Amino acid sequence: MKTLAVIGGGITGVTTAYALAKRGYGVTLFERHRYAAMDTSFANGGQLSASNAETWTHPSTLVKGLKWMLKSDAPLLLNPKPSWHKMSWFAEFIASIPKYRQNTIATARLAIAAREHLFAWAAAEGIDFDHRREGILHIYRDKKGFDHAGEVSKLLAAGGLSRQPVTPDEMKAIEPTLAGSYYGGYYTESDSTGDIHKFTQGLAAACERLAVRCLYGQDVRAVRSDGQETRVTVATADGPEVHAFDGVVVCAGVGSRALAAQLGDRINVYPVKGYSITVNLLDAASQQAAPTVSLLDDETKLVTSRLGTGRFRVAGTAEFNGFNRDIRADRIRPLVDWVNQCFPGVSTRQVVPWAGLRPMMPDMMPRVGRGRQANVFYNTGHGHLGWTLSAATAEMLGECVVQRVPRGFHPVAGVAAAA
Ligand SMILES: Cc1cc2nc3c(=O)[nH]c(=O)nc-3n(C[C@H](O)[C@H](O)[C@H](O)COP(=O)(O)OP(=O)(O)OC[C@H]3O[C@@H](n4cnc5c(N)ncnc54)[C@H](O)[C@@H]3O)c2cc1C
Repeated sequence: MKTLAVIGGGITGVTTAYALAKRGYGVTLFERHRYAAMDTSFANGGQLSASNAETWTHPSTLVKGLKWMLKSDAPLLLNPKPSWHKMSWFAEFIASIPKYRQNTIATARLAIAAREHLFAWAAAEGIDFDHRREGILHIYRDKKGFDHAGEVSKLLAAGGLSRQPVTPDEMKAIEPTLAGSYYGGYYTESDSTGDIHKFTQGLAAACERLAVRCLYGQDVRAVRSDGQETRVTVATADGPEVHAFDGVVVCAGVGSRALAAQLGDRINVYPVKGYSITVNLLDAASQQAAPTVSLLDDETKLVTSRLGTGRFRVAGTAEFNGFNRDIRADRIRPLVDWVNQCFPGVSTRQVVPWAGLRPMMPDMMPRVGRGRQANVFYNTGHGHLGWTLSAATAEMLGECVVQRVPRGFHPVAGVAAAA
């Protein structure tokens, strides 16, 4: 194979295009938006968080989920209207509970491996993405949450990550701006944060310097492959246009399931909506009162990132409501209230709301590897951790293509599922 199409210009598509171009392939990237990183990779939580590697496939998620199900300001919201997609996804989610430990450990390993590539690429290509290396502090309001975190820490340690329990006083020393009373915390010094959109845009420009053809505004309507050749049909103003390649990599986020079906593969990605707000820190007092250390609040499931001096991002919540992308006021309100409570000195006069769809696999593990046809590959389904994991999975995908791996997904310590 010499020429490859990459479908999708989010973080996974752009990192994949970069990893393939570096390996000498002729890459064409198709993205339906006018620019890279306009979909889920636009305004996420910003955390590069090995410490958030715990998969959600824990029995307690089911109990909490049932309690939260119909409360509009709860961290999780489920539209009870049944669909085959949703039901099959939940059935597979429950079936993956026995792999909770193994998948959490594998995710931590992957997240640690991703750091070295991401940081090296940013340095080599001169990408400024408001990277901040001040660690991530997980905060707990009760003993139950804190004790569970202790168990999670053992799994993270098995994956190679060290994080420290901290007392409320130590939390105050780590992040003095945080208001409120807490039972305790866990601090991961090696984690960091950054702007996914800025990084992806910067890497997309680097791809073009490596002769990747980035075709924006190109909606892929059909993709076919016979194992030797792949034909990609895009919609243009003048009608459909067909491009031929030696192979294809699907990195289409929540669009991957439909494209995989056309290629004879099943990738059961579900769109799990999340919200963020970007608080513009307009005055010196707000800039002083906003945290620089990244936080994860276990009770509300919110994460934060300080982006440069002037922006404070807060993100979270999970909504199972199909491909609905509406930004709901009743889902944004709890994020603003949280900032008002935890950082009372921050002015929330100017807040930019956003919603995005996480491409989530039922077992929470990304799919990286070859499909049914020898020239069809996937790097998709990164769920709540696409920013954290993408550099590692792009490198893995690059190796899968070079080594012409057989059908199935790359066996990263437990990530082994047949296509
Ligand atoms: C609220 C929220 C907070 C988050 N916080 C974090 C965090 O703190 N840390 C972290 O690691 N992760 C986080 N995530 C997850 C992370 O943002 C995602 O996993 C990641 O952005 C997914 O990247 P992607 O490339 O797979 O998908 P996308 O960014 O959606 O890219 C897929 C691209 O494919 C294109 N596409 C799809 N179909 C077609 C087609 N037919 N033709 C042409 N183009 C097509 C789309 O337009 C899109 O641009 C968060 C997500 C959300 C929603």
